[in-house]
Amino acid sequence: MNNKKYNNFICQIINEDLNKNKNLSLRTRFPPEPNGHLHIGHAKSICLNFELAHLYNGKCNLRFDDTNPLKENIKYINSIKYDISWLGYKWNGSVRYSSDYFFKLYQYAKQLIYKGLAYVDNLTKEQIREYRGTLNTPGINSPYRNRTIEENIKLFKKMKNGEYAEGEACLRAKIDMSSSSIIMRDPVLYRIRFMPHHQTKNIWCIYPTYDFAHCLSDSLEKITHSLCTLEFQENKFLYNWILYNTNVEYHPKQYEFSRLNLEFSILSKRKLKILIDQNIIQGWNDPRIPTISGLRRKGYTASAIKYFCQKIGITKQNTLIEYSLLEHCIRKELNQTAIRSMAILEPIKITLYNLDENHKEIFVVPNHPNNPDMGTHEIIFTNIIYIERSDFKEKYETGYKRLSIGKEIRLRYAYIIQATKIEKDEFNNIINITCYCDTTSLGKKPKNKKNPAVIHWISIHNTLPVEFRLYDQLFDIKNPEQQKNFLSYINPKSLIKKHGFIEKTLATMIQQYIFNQNNQLCFQFERIGYFCIDYIDSQKNYLVFNRTVNLRDLWNLKKNKNTNN
Ligand code: ATP
Ligand code: MG
Repeated sequence: MNNKKYNNFICQIINEDLNKNKNLSLRTRFPPEPNGHLHIGHAKSICLNFELAHLYNGKCNLRFDDTNPLKENIKYINSIKYDISWLGYKWNGSVRYSSDYFFKLYQYAKQLIYKGLAYVDNLTKEQIREYRGTLNTPGINSPYRNRTIEENIKLFKKMKNGEYAEGEACLRAKIDMSSSSIIMRDPVLYRIRFMPHHQTKNIWCIYPTYDFAHCLSDSLEKITHSLCTLEFQENKFLYNWILYNTNVEYHPKQYEFSRLNLEFSILSKRKLKILIDQNIIQGWNDPRIPTISGLRRKGYTASAIKYFCQKIGITKQNTLIEYSLLEHCIRKELNQTAIRSMAILEPIKITLYNLDENHKEIFVVPNHPNNPDMGTHEIIFTNIIYIERSDFKEKYETGYKRLSIGKEIRLRYAYIIQATKIEKDEFNNIINITCYCDTTSLGKKPKNKKNPAVIHWISIHNTLPVEFRLYDQLFDIKNPEQQKNFLSYINPKSLIKKHGFIEKTLATMIQQYIFNQNNQLCFQFERIGYFCIDYIDSQKNYLVFNRTVNLRDLWNLKKNKNTNN
């Protein structure tokens, strides 16, 4: 047992339960609604449920909470299963569905009717809301509340047989319309929906509500600890009421923890869907949103996501987690695993005038500075090379450490060069920088001079043209989730595309990874950032690279700069 890794208040509850009952066999579940893709918030819940099961030698079920066919889709089921497996978790036995229990749930509903604890109501949805009252005013009883048991059974069957239109009738629990907990004011248990269901097809036209299905499904699966987020705290009264009054054998206990809120991010599937439907982002796997598939496409690994979930911990405090913490988790890993190489995002040409045009040298460079096991690759050095446009300034300014006329820099792994003149096109753009190459400087410190700064470069004979996608936050504000009009805070520069080069000598290594989302190849393009291949938009002859994360924590640098100003 790795107690260090998982030691939260839920572990303490489980430890106490185990003290009371040595034979307790822990059973948790992850209950997604298949109405969208999973996101980093779900990952928090997945890690909690699966890690606890692992820690205590228990089991974790995967159960789709599929009570609303209107919003659900088989493609979401498949993506959710894929993401959980990709995170490295195995659910107990086969996939379960709340819909597996629809027949049993129907029987439990009838049981409540027979006990006089449920009734068929014919108020409209709006009237039900109106009659429910507010926090300060009690609710009002429905005029249909005192129907006889026989009548309720008859009408509930009528609902089931499709003899009512949608919205004409529903089944409600008969609890207390003046309860201080609004949830307990005769909550709806079943509603009519003429909609084929992805699992049960056309069998049913009545569907249980989340509250009715959830507790009973937990009970049927003998879930020992039903873990959910804090907004379900109130629902616990109903959870327990239903279990108590249906006389089920097994009574699971619900415990709540705080949701994950992440800076600059939306974590509501409904709102994420709006972003997709309005074409603000490309889809559920757009690298700018923190869905598992978006993060994966951006180059995040399962281990980095799990490390993040471990770091944020499980508490009852609602906080907004810094985005830089998520980035820290992937950067830490990629620093160990990414292959170092050079790439040019915005190329500018350099001609080394004192080298012959047939000059060609091959340097063998390490794939990782501290890990020789990661091997080496070759780079080619010739008289014409590209450097980054931002590494050159026509006029030297004090403190500028890159190349400018009359100044020197060192080419990474190669020579010191000095710029002598530039050539411009008719639009005043620099198209060539002529430089002197100090051919005695390879691997040597310059005499009587300070070492110049080092920049990256690629020979014109070693260029592979590619597209780079640079991502920034999708929102300009830290907490878009709290804004009603969150769409007005979209950052127009959340995606910038650049067309540049990577080293062609890497092409063979890359080819086998292009379309493989399970086995990502990650690069640290020196001085630029960590990148991965976009397995969706890349083609054999057209590679697209996504920037996973910057080399340093730029958000915090930016933030500190802003607060200093
Ligand atoms: P969303 O608002 O994104 O649709 P949801 O809660 O409706 O979220 P479900 O599919 O019902 O999504 O969630 C499955 C499980 O994941 C639930 O147990 C839920 O509590 C948990 N979960 C969802 N969002 C978060 C989050 N942000 N942080 C932690 N757990 C979450
Ligand atoms: Mg939900």
